[in-house]
Amino acid sequence: MAFVKIVIHGGAGTIRKTEMTEHLEERYREGLAEALEAGYQKLEKGCSAVEAVMASVMSLEDNELFNAGKGSVFTSEGVHEMDAAIMDGASLKAGAVCAVSRIKNPVRLAYMVMNHSPHVMLCGKGAETFARMHQLPEENDEYFFSEYRYEQWKMLRNTDQSALDHNVHLSELRGSSRNMTDKKYGTVGAVAIDSHGNLAAATSTGGMTNKRWGRIGDSPVIGAGTYANNNTCAISCTGHGEIFLRTVAAYDVSCLMEYKRLSLQEAMRSVVFDKLQSLQGEGGMIGLDASGNHAMIFNSEGMYRGVKGSDGSYEIAIYA
Ligand code: ASP
Repeated sequence: MAFVKIVIHGGAGTIRKTEMTEHLEERYREGLAEALEAGYQKLEKGCSAVEAVMASVMSLEDNELFNAGKGSVFTSEGVHEMDAAIMDGASLKAGAVCAVSRIKNPVRLAYMVMNHSPHVMLCGKGAETFARMHQLPEENDEYFFSEYRYEQWKMLRNTDQSALDHNVHLSELRGSSRNMTDKKYGTVGAVAIDSHGNLAAATSTGGMTNKRWGRIGDSPVIGAGTYANNNTCAISCTGHGEIFLRTVAAYDVSCLMEYKRLSLQEAMRSVVFDKLQSLQGEGGMIGLDASGNHAMIFNSEGMYRGVKGSDGSYEIAIYA
């Protein structure tokens, strides 16, 4: 089999081993392993990198542990508004959706936008109409409800704060010793290289807890949270979206590689540790270059992440 590889993340943030139970950690690891496998199997069968990243991200969207699809965080109005994007590094085609509700798999909707519309980005009601036209599965509020995220939202809803899912620690907010066994983290994403050497990236999120006014983060914005280009790299980001938007983080990695001839590692480290951090931008990103080298870099305490390649590379990790 020709060389293939997939890398995934399930969000970055204040992920502390001291607040994790063995059982919960096991569930995260299982969720990451399943998502890796979903994408890797596509690559093994000769499917495209685009199909592989979609399969991995859909698996994470269906897992309520992660803040995307099922398990998305609550907005200030107590609803779920999800963002997602996908990009094909071979053609530079891209699709994105933002502030969509009820759509079971927003990344699949982004894929449909990329392949079956003349547009790149659809939002809200229009995107939902487009989803209905293409008969994409929808779910009711109950499907997206998660007790833990509801509790997180209740802590913030009468404030003007919004917060990264991973950083709303109920025990701290309440000053109590609430058990964190049901604690859940973040945005999800995947990057892959297929047997033809093509790259792709996808990202999906419920955004930030208590977000207001139709707030949209970096995840669905091509170049900010998601980017793929066969000439350089495929990148999926997670973290404080506003800072990733302002630094055009994913595209910046590609530019540093293209114009400054930095390696993937060097470019990602420069963006994550210099540019994002100088603006107090917490988070991280996963990346793959055209030769199949990968990197998983973050400036937060942890990032749910994993990689599987046909060269035998395999890793699932959470903490720094
Ligand atoms: N980047 C996402 C956003 O700002 C949040 C995350 O990565 O958890 O919407």
